[in-house]
Amino acid sequence: MGNYLHCGLRNDLNARKTGYNMNTSKSALSYVPNNPSSPWQVYLQQVDRVAPHLGHLQRWVETLKRCKRILAVDIPINRDDGTVAHYEGFRAQHNLSRGPGKGGVRFHPDVTIDEVMALSAWMTVKNAALNLPYGGAKGGIRVDPKTLTRPELERLTRRYTSEIGLIIGPDKDIPAPDVNTNDQIMAWMMDTYSMNVGATATGVVTGKPIALGGSLGRKEATGRGVYIAARETARAMKMDITGSRVVVQGFGNVGGIGARLFRDAGATIVGLQDASGSIGNEAGIDVDAALAHVAAGGKLTEFKGASMISENDFWALKSDIFVPAALENQITAERAEKLSTRLVVEGANGPTTPQADDILHDRGIQVVPDVIANAGGVTVSYFEWVQDFSSFFWTESEINDRLERIMVEALKAVVHTAEKNKVSLRTAAFIIACTRVLAARELRGLYP
Ligand code: NAD
Repeated sequence: MGNYLHCGLRNDLNARKTGYNMNTSKSALSYVPNNPSSPWQVYLQQVDRVAPHLGHLQRWVETLKRCKRILAVDIPINRDDGTVAHYEGFRAQHNLSRGPGKGGVRFHPDVTIDEVMALSAWMTVKNAALNLPYGGAKGGIRVDPKTLTRPELERLTRRYTSEIGLIIGPDKDIPAPDVNTNDQIMAWMMDTYSMNVGATATGVVTGKPIALGGSLGRKEATGRGVYIAARETARAMKMDITGSRVVVQGFGNVGGIGARLFRDAGATIVGLQDASGSIGNEAGIDVDAALAHVAAGGKLTEFKGASMISENDFWALKSDIFVPAALENQITAERAEKLSTRLVVEGANGPTTPQADDILHDRGIQVVPDVIANAGGVTVSYFEWVQDFSSFFWTESEINDRLERIMVEALKAVVHTAEKNKVSLRTAAFIIACTRVLAARELRGLYP
């Protein structure tokens, strides 16, 4: 079977691998997982928390508990050794009420339908919380890209793009980089889509190289947004970033750039963790040297400027600000009890389970939720898309100024809503976003 829309999912799909079990869920698009910590289940619990605050729009809340459209695709590629390998990929469009879909593409061995659904829904919430004219979408391929050569990775990217070409496009759904994808992969996606439609379509993806219509500041935008969110929240808590102690989990695009900006502002980075393990240095880690070490292919745990520490010790490190910037479900209830920090700024999507969220709240630890904290990336993606349409490009300082203004305003609105409704910053961001999405839904009405 090649492409199939999600409503045509086969019963015999490997439920463990896909995260989807037809026997426990009759519906495909609004499926309710058994596993309470599955990302989609976490998202559903977040929607339940916001529902009582939606007034008359509650009537439409079911809209948020399902995806509009999900495409699952088989991706066969020729390996360099002459064999043929098959990979599974997805593109989920959660909601398109406010505009075309927008969201990243992830290449990771743990990608599941469940995860892609949740990530697409969080994009709906994030885009609406920032008032960007987009719906929410996300894609992924279940693959460990480290096992592929560069030509194999290119063939995989191109075939995936061609398969999801049915539903993406500059005015339909615009992918961007996420975990293990970068500007080169966006260039291949843009080229493949352009070849298929017979015209160069730079606006089909964002996060492209500058030479192909990419935007200045896009690569740094998510980390920059994390830093702005931390700075503004710290200010409201009467905490100074200069001299603060910061711990970062995930040392890729978001965590690496975020760490550098905290260091530039005078913070001390006392702990880092990536997929290879954790390191700590009470006197501060030289972020530039650690980034150079990792970029040269070194393991973070072998970085000479810090000591390797156990996972247990990493989660107990004393800090003022903790930035999860790796994957979902990293701050579990057990780790939330251990965290010794004042402020959590979610660089990653979905890093905190609802139980952990409650524990952090009870312990007086402030949490800036993902849908605001990591929205810098999609905001500059929006700038990139606008620049591509107008074929007129802005300076980096124009981009950073606009990013700063949008982030600060969005954060202010979230803090105000949280105080007014006596809810967490996460629920406040969901109230603002879900109200915008459902108001659009109501205005458009149901077709036919
Ligand atoms: P990346 O691939 O550049 O980096 C991911 C980092 O996480 C790497 O350092 C990796 O080693 C580490 N990691 C992976 N598994 C880990 C584990 N089990 N424990 C500890 N560390 C682990 O990815 P990225 O683009 O920086 O994305 C990180 C997070 O930020 C994701 O949740 C992503 O969805 C989110 N995000 C990214 C962007 C963006 O613009 N790139 C925008 C918004 C949100």
